[in-house]
Amino acid sequence: MATRLIDRLEDDRFHDECGVFGVFRNSGASALVALGLHALQHRGQEAAGIVAADRGRFRVERHLGLVSDSFTRPEVMERLKGSAAIGHTRYSTTGEPALHNVQPLFAETAMGGFAVAHNGNLTNAQTLRLKLRESGSIFQSTSDTEVLIHLLATSTKSSFIERFVDAIRQVEGAFALVALTDGMMVGCRDALGIRPLLIGDFEGSFVLASETCALDIIGARYVRDVEPGELVIISDDGLQSFRPFPPVPSRFCVFEYVYFARPDSSVAGRNVYDVRTRIGAELAREAPAPADVVVPVPDSGTPAAIGYAQASALPFELGIIRNHYVGRTFIEPSDQIRHMGVKLKHNANKAVLAGKRVVLVDDSIVRGTTSLKIVEMVRDAGAAEVHMRIASPPTTDSCFYGVDTPEKSKLIASRMSVEELARYIKVDSLAFLSIDGLYRAAGEQRRNSDSPQYCDACFTGEYPTPLTDRGVRRPVAQLSFLENAG
Ligand code: AMP
Repeated sequence: MATRLIDRLEDDRFHDECGVFGVFRNSGASALVALGLHALQHRGQEAAGIVAADRGRFRVERHLGLVSDSFTRPEVMERLKGSAAIGHTRYSTTGEPALHNVQPLFAETAMGGFAVAHNGNLTNAQTLRLKLRESGSIFQSTSDTEVLIHLLATSTKSSFIERFVDAIRQVEGAFALVALTDGMMVGCRDALGIRPLLIGDFEGSFVLASETCALDIIGARYVRDVEPGELVIISDDGLQSFRPFPPVPSRFCVFEYVYFARPDSSVAGRNVYDVRTRIGAELAREAPAPADVVVPVPDSGTPAAIGYAQASALPFELGIIRNHYVGRTFIEPSDQIRHMGVKLKHNANKAVLAGKRVVLVDDSIVRGTTSLKIVEMVRDAGAAEVHMRIASPPTTDSCFYGVDTPEKSKLIASRMSVEELARYIKVDSLAFLSIDGLYRAAGEQRRNSDSPQYCDACFTGEYPTPLTDRGVRRPVAQLSFLENAG
């Protein structure tokens, strides 16, 4: 039992994709958080959790599965009493899903109860964890977020805010955090603002959310973004803003615009759908194709395909239909199942494709599996030519900031040139958007190579923070005595 548990702990990945949401001072706080998490489901489909605070008492509900699987059950929601609550949706693609990693994490510290939900990934968590373990910390999960709790709990500073600042100053990487204490809700973004976090207002109650679509679902008003490097403390006295880090130019994740965020959201001041359609238009200008019809790989390729069709004055047609009752293809852990997964998810619409020269638009190529299968499907449906257009530059490098990409060796664009890749996926032509084209679509004139305006490490390999943990052996989580005894 103990050995199996250790295997499982070692198996878990550190890279998580996540959504966070919080409501402060509302009698229906937990129900509002459940709705917010439901709107953020695309940011994490493996597990979800809510912690509610009720006059010094904290209640924790963390469950595997979709938000609607657990947080619609009356007995679960009744337990989550309190006028403040925070929540988290989580997604990791490999390793057995494990309840001990589901967030928000909660601990009783000398400063009282503390819950935290984290979107992003810390790039020195393993290094810090080893140090903390040396000095006696006992870890209960393999989550990088847990180091924040230990740093806060062992800080020598006196007030909660000072301890929190002490903790976040020691971590590197990407973090959009929502935390809860008895009497305070906290929001914080790393100095570069890699992951999104914004402030909303619901009938006078403060709301924190990863994306605006989560405000829309409860009818909350968008107030402003938590700024990169900003710490906000929300209490009965209102909102206080702190700047715990020296100011640096921000580096919001450009992949949020390409794929990750929902198209009806605005993040970092831009509407995601608008950026995606502009991406499509840039792609049409950079890489026109001799074709009769533009077809998206749904859903992630759809806004870019609309932009491509408009800019090239070609008809836009739904030549591939998606079955909405399966998760994202990526969620399947083994290559064999992933191959089947593409067919479970997409089917060719022969009436649209037969005899046509088709421009196929998808947002990105990661392992190449989806493109290979989709192209085959489109050809089998009778397409005369297939021209693949990708609405981002080649994904050549792994993300260490909270988007779950496979290791570099599994990224097909890190191993093949565009020509080789075109032959591999068997298309008549293949083109990717240029990095400057992507920046133009996201509102810049071009990428400033001395000081890039976005984090684009997955396309350039230029990481904006130190990657201290690279090469550090992954430590096994310590188990509590109870678990060991099992
Ligand atoms: P692949 O088959 O590995 O090339 O995957 C490409 C498909 O995965 C594209 O259609 C993307 O929409 C999608 N995708 C890209 N990045 C991610 C990610 N981090 N998580 C889930 N899906 C992704």
